[in-house]
Amino acid sequence: MTGDAAGDAYRLMLTQVTVEKLADMVIWLDETGRYVFVNPAATKLLGYTAEELSRMHVWEVDPLFDEARWRAHWDDVVERKSFIFETVNTSKSGLDITIEVTVNFVEYEGRRFNCAIIRDVTERRRLDRELRDLNETIYRMSITDSLTGVANRRHFDTVLGREMERHGRSGVPLSLILLDVDAFKALNDTYGHVVGDDALRIIATTLERSMGKACLTARFGGEEFACILPVTNHAEALASAEGARVAIAGLSVPHTGSPVADHLTASFGVATTGAGGMRPIDLLRAVDKALYRAKHLGRNRVVGTTVLADVP
Ligand code: GH3
Ligand code: MG
Ligand code: MG
Repeated sequence: MTGDAAGDAYRLMLTQVTVEKLADMVIWLDETGRYVFVNPAATKLLGYTAEELSRMHVWEVDPLFDEARWRAHWDDVVERKSFIFETVNTSKSGLDITIEVTVNFVEYEGRRFNCAIIRDVTERRRLDRELRDLNETIYRMSITDSLTGVANRRHFDTVLGREMERHGRSGVPLSLILLDVDAFKALNDTYGHVVGDDALRIIATTLERSMGKACLTARFGGEEFACILPVTNHAEALASAEGARVAIAGLSVPHTGSPVADHLTASFGVATTGAGGMRPIDLLRAVDKALYRAKHLGRNRVVGTTVLADVP
C-alpha cells in the first residue's frame, strides 16, 4: 500500500483513530514547552480542552516543573532521544495525577518536538504504597509479641544468632539477661488472668524502658523476658539488670499471694561472654542456670555468670 495516495490515507486513518481511542495520553510539546497536540485521553484526564491546552505551557499543568526545569529537561530529551520518567500533572479541577511519561524526541521539517506517551499510574503507585505498608505491618507482626508489644521469641532467636556471630568476629563482650516473674502463677490465681496479662504488659514496658534502645527486649516464654545487650561487659549488664529489678519492684503492683514481697517482683539471670566462638545455646544455658540460682537464693534478685575466663 505504501507509495499510493489511497494507501497513505488509509494508514493515516488507522493512526488517527488509534491515537483517538488510546487510553494513554499522547501529548506533543514543542521545544518551548507548549502543548502542540493532545489526544482525547489527555483532555479527558486533565480536564482541559485541546484549545485551552494549546495556549498553555507544560509547567502550568505539572507542579514539579517550571520554565528552568523544562529547559534542562528539553536538553535531556534532545540528548537521550527517548526515556521514561515519572512526574505529576494537576487536572483543571485540582486533582494530582501521578504519570509515567515516555519521552520521544521528534524532528520534523526543521521543528523539534517531544512526542510523549503518558500513562496514569496513580492507582498503581497507590497499590504499591499499600503493598509496602502491608508488608511492613506483616513484618512488624511477625517479630512482635502480641500481648506485650516487645519482640517475640522468633525475633529474639534471630537477633541473638546475629549478635553472637558479630561477637565471635569482634571479640567485644556480649551479655544476656533472662528474667522470670516471681510467683506469677499465684498472681493469676489470686487476681485472675486479665490482671496477669496486664502485669506482663507493664513488666515488658518497664523492662524495655529500663534497658534502653541499644538492647533488644523480648518475651522469651510465658512470664519470662530476655534482653540482649551487645557490647556490654558483665559489670554493666549486672547494673542494667539491677536497674530493671528495682524498676519492676518499684511499680508496686500488689501481689498478696507472693511469698517474696507484697508486690510483684522478678528474678534475673545475667550471662556475659568474652572472646571465643560460643553458640547461642551455650549462652542461653548459662543465663538459665544463673536465673535458676536467683530463684533458689530467694527470688527478687540478680545472679550473674561469666561464660569464658577472658571476660573483662
Ligand atoms: P516462680 O517464682 O518459680 O517463677 O513461680 P511462677 O508461679 O512464676 O512459675 P510457674 O512456672 O509455676 O508459673 C508460671 C505461670 O505463668 C503459669 C502460667 O499460667 C502463667 N502464664 C504464662 N503465660 C501467661 C500469659 O500469657 N498470661 C497470663 N495471665 N499467665 C501466663
Ligand atoms: Mg517461668
Ligand atoms: Mg515465674
